[in-house]
Amino acid sequence: MKTIYLDNNATTQVAPEVLEEMLPYLRDYYGNPSSMHTFGGQLHRKVEEARAKVAHLIGAEPEEIIFTSSGTESDNTAIMSAVESFPQKRHIITTRVEHPAVLNFCKHLARRGYRITFLTVNSKGQLNIDELLKAIDDNTALVTIMYANNEVGNIFPISEIGNMLKERRILFHTDAVQVVGKIPIDTKKLPVEMLSLSGHKVHAPKGVGVLYVRKGTRFYPYVIGGHQERGRRAGTENVASIIGLGKACEIAAKNITQESLSLAHLRDKLEKALMHKCPDVRINGDVTSRLPNTTNLSFEYVEGEAILLRLNEYGVCASSGSACTSGSLEPSHVLRAMGVPFTAIHGSIRFSLSRYNSEAEVDRVIEIMPDIIKSLRQLSPFGREKLGESVTSP
Ligand code: PLP
Repeated sequence: MKTIYLDNNATTQVAPEVLEEMLPYLRDYYGNPSSMHTFGGQLHRKVEEARAKVAHLIGAEPEEIIFTSSGTESDNTAIMSAVESFPQKRHIITTRVEHPAVLNFCKHLARRGYRITFLTVNSKGQLNIDELLKAIDDNTALVTIMYANNEVGNIFPISEIGNMLKERRILFHTDAVQVVGKIPIDTKKLPVEMLSLSGHKVHAPKGVGVLYVRKGTRFYPYVIGGHQERGRRAGTENVASIIGLGKACEIAAKNITQESLSLAHLRDKLEKALMHKCPDVRINGDVTSRLPNTTNLSFEYVEGEAILLRLNEYGVCASSGSACTSGSLEPSHVLRAMGVPFTAIHGSIRFSLSRYNSEAEVDRVIEIMPDIIKSLRQLSPFGREKLGESVTSP
């Protein structure tokens, strides 16, 4: 059975061109880019080429790119750099819908005496800019707000927010892990001082990320040791993965506008058909400002996990808004922050597409989903009631 992979916000397939580009650097060219000999020096040049490619995709200068181990490390580093650079300031502003890489790091700082403001969102997952402005005070070291949400795909008004923060001379970081490679970003125009991205969301391997730091921004390293990355991130470089990320960014830069349109076309086709064919479905998120590849749908009166298991039987991979950890259903913090009713949270499914999905795959999901939902609703008392069937045992 062929896998239909619609879970690209979780991770993406490594592009074949990326793998090809990486292989020699795993097999043959294993030197250390910091070494004095030619063998090492060659690798240093390749890392710098990759840096230039990543920089090009986001309109940055190569020296503004710091390679890290992940999106998580980039997020942690940005926050830690702000608090270390401005030790007298002990307040951070973020949102309730961030990825745990930001959310849990902020909670960790809260336990160490920092004051954290977690901004609320409305039922569509939109921020209230007035709430943000009111939260700022002389103690604010950093505002960190994600560019787009991984669960519902909402894109936040980063330019608008950044311009307001610039007037107030407040440091601004954005987690753009879900945005880079999906929609164009130009850091020359985007008023942010720091921006995070992750390799495995852009068809590069896992275990490589980037923190963009605008020239002139005060910076304090988080991983301390050797002099790598101009003293801004210690540790021998993950050369092959960095080279892979460079290639992935080069490919994304060439096709981004066209790809974004075709992803939106496929996503909209899937969403419209499921809304039409399955009763009692709602879209979670802001349909006026969303990533082109993401749809988050709530199927009332069914458990998302049950839908995932049934989809899995057909080889279809997606995600649900409730993660089953150690036997307990933990509902999504994003959908909870949006005030989505519990029944709808438990029946939520995220489909996230990539350039490797075809129209035939989307058609297949449209074909199987109505029966899956109907049969699961027949198993639940609420669902049977909705389907107009008796819920009392004979
Ligand atoms: N930020 C967002 C918005 C994400 O979606 C993810 C991964 O899902 C991360 C950060 C973490 O990235 P990584 O898996 O590279 O640590």
